[in-house]
Amino acid sequence: MPDMLKHDVLVIGSLNADLVVRAPHFPQPGETISGDDLQIIPGGKGANQAVAAARQGASVAMLGHVGKDSFGPFLLDSLRSNSVDTTHVSADESATGTAIIVVDASGQNSIVLSAGANGKVTPKDIETLNIEAKVLFLQLEIPLETVIHAAKWGKQKAMIVILNPAPARELPDELIANVDFILPNETELSLLTGVPVTDISSTERAARVLLKRGAKNVIVTLGSKGALVVSSQQATHVEAYKVDVVDTTAAGDAFIGGFASALLRGVEVEAAAQYANACGALAATKFGAQPSLPTKEEVEKFIK
Ligand code: ADP
Repeated sequence: MPDMLKHDVLVIGSLNADLVVRAPHFPQPGETISGDDLQIIPGGKGANQAVAAARQGASVAMLGHVGKDSFGPFLLDSLRSNSVDTTHVSADESATGTAIIVVDASGQNSIVLSAGANGKVTPKDIETLNIEAKVLFLQLEIPLETVIHAAKWGKQKAMIVILNPAPARELPDELIANVDFILPNETELSLLTGVPVTDISSTERAARVLLKRGAKNVIVTLGSKGALVVSSQQATHVEAYKVDVVDTTAAGDAFIGGFASALLRGVEVEAAAQYANACGALAATKFGAQPSLPTKEEVEKFIK
C-alpha cells in the first residue's frame, strides 16, 4: 500500500461555480429584466471551507466531484492555486455543481442550487480513500447518506469531525452523535431542533437539544452578533467584530476554516471562536465566495 498522505484537514463536500448577476430587483414569474455582467466565482461550501482553512496555513485535501464541463477545471484551479490537494476530486459525466445567484439592489440574494456532480459523491468514494487527517469538514451539499458515512468513518479514524449543517434541513441522530463540533447558523439551528431561535437564550436552549442528541460541542454563528459556544459545561457568547459589510457570502465558511486552523494550533475553543469571528467579519467585507476568504496574515493584522 502506498504511504498515507497526512493532512491537517480533509474536506468531503461540494464544489460549485457561483454564477452571479446583480439586478435592480428579482424578476417576477414570466418577467425578463436586465442585470449587470455575469460574474463566475468559485464556490460550494466544501471547496470554500477547504480554501478558508488553507489560507489560514492548514494543509488541506478535498474529496468531491466536478463535471467534465469547463466549470470543473475552473474550480480545480482555484483549489490548487490555494495549495489544496485535489488528488481526490474526480470528474464525472454530470454537470459541475452550480449556484445561480441574483443579487438585488438592496444586497439580498436569491439562489437556485444545481447539485450536478456533487450529487454523485458516494460512501464508496470514502471506502477507497487513502488519506490521514486531523480534522474532517462536512457540510450538506452532497448526499446525506455520504455525509453520515463520512462522519462515522472520520470518528473511526480518530479525526475531529466538524459538521456545518448547511443548507438547513433536519438530520438523524446517527449523524449528530458522530460529530465533535456542529456549527449551524440561527436558521439551520432552528430547523434542526424545531426550537424558534430569536435571542441568545433561545439559541442556547436549541443548542442544548443538539447536545442531548449526541453532539459534543455546538457553535452557533450569529452573523453580526458573533457566535455562541455551547458545551455541556457552559455557554459563552463571543462578540463579533464591527466591519463595513459588502457581502456575507462565505462568512460562515471563513469562520469554520479559521476556527479549525486555530484549534490545530492548540488554541482553546472559545479563543478559536474569537479568531473565527475575525475571519467571518473579514470575509463579509469582500464580494464573492472564495475571493473573500482571508489569509492568516490578514486576520492577524485585522485583530491588532
Ligand atoms: P452564514 O454565513 O453561514 O449564514 P453567519 O451569517 O452567522 O453564517 O456568519 C458567520 C460568521 O461571520 C459570524 O459568526 C461572524 O463571525 C461573521 N459575520 C457574519 N456577518 C457579520 C457582520 N455583519 N459583522 C461582523 N461579522 C459577521
